[in-house]
Amino acid sequence: AKRTKNGAVSKVRVVVRVRPFLAHEIASKNGNPVPFVSAQFDSPDEVSVHLKDQETSRRECYKLDAFFGQEDNRVTKIFEKEVSPLIPGVFRGCDATVFAYGATGSGKTYTMQGTDEQPGLMPLAISTVLSFCQSTGCIAEISYYEVYLDRCYDLLDLKANEIAVLDDKEGRIHLRGLSQVPVNSMSEFHEVFARGIQRRKVAHTGLSDVSSRSHGVLVIAVATPSDNESEAAIIGKLNLIDLAGNEDNRRSGNEGIRMLESAKINQSLLALSNVIYALNNNKAWVPYRESKLTRILQDSLRETNHALMVACLSPGDYQQSVHTVSLAARSRQI
Ligand code: ADP
Ligand code: MG
Repeated sequence: AKRTKNGAVSKVRVVVRVRPFLAHEIASKNGNPVPFVSAQFDSPDEVSVHLKDQETSRRECYKLDAFFGQEDNRVTKIFEKEVSPLIPGVFRGCDATVFAYGATGSGKTYTMQGTDEQPGLMPLAISTVLSFCQSTGCIAEISYYEVYLDRCYDLLDLKANEIAVLDDKEGRIHLRGLSQVPVNSMSEFHEVFARGIQRRKVAHTGLSDVSSRSHGVLVIAVATPSDNESEAAIIGKLNLIDLAGNEDNRRSGNEGIRMLESAKINQSLLALSNVIYALNNNKAWVPYRESKLTRILQDSLRETNHALMVACLSPGDYQQSVHTVSLAARSRQI
């Protein structure tokens, strides 16, 4: 953790990940695309990310916590440096939250879900959690839900039910009726999660795949073992979130439902950025209520809990990358 100017410790780390060029991007640049992002490590906990537009030579520079470039693209590197250190805390009652943030096509889902060959942060996290469970006797339960147009849908429920977000008397947030499925092994996890992913693709009748226009939240809850007398009690949670794509609205020319989606997405990403900024700057007032997503996450983000934002960039899209990094840097700013 890093000390802020007034001596407090920053709670939300903001890092950048640049995906490699894809085959078609290489082909469209005659086999020789030039990356426009580079990084300069200022100190062990600060990096300057430089973006340079090839056509106009425009330059931008933003300060962030860490940089994962195209050269060494393993997800395991981000996992080991940034996510794995959060997991012991979850077993001590500190929630943790990881966000993948960026434009559509920048590698958010690849980073979070990954592929069979390169598992993403979600399967890597569950694997570590399961091995901690083995040594502690704790159990892991997962929930998977989606936030679309400020409504919340359970993806592990057969009917993909909308779930109500409620506050209790102590001001804690509850997702009423959200499924929690115990998982004991990686194969159980993959089976349950694959069904959720499938449901996410078809959950909204009449609309084509909304999964890149909604926030997908996988929750790994760690609980004490239950016996006959006592029910399992949740110790801590790890939220792993594949955020909706942050499109630059001026460019996309959206209309109708797309326009509404896009407005809601931008509003919730801005709200998230405001919350992270307030947390990193120890503001007394944190605007959790500005969006459904931040309201749902308020218990996990507050106080001694930790979070990580991974800003994902496409190496060939200068404008979108500036859009993504500037918002990420703004939330980190202290
Ligand atoms: P997003 O979820 O942000 O819309 P995706 O994760 O779907 O983006 O990635 C877009 C495309 O780029 C996909 O075809 C994906 O396989 C590919 N891709 C993303 N990140 C990487 C990476 N690190 N290495 C190789 N291919 C990647
Ligand atoms: Mg995606």
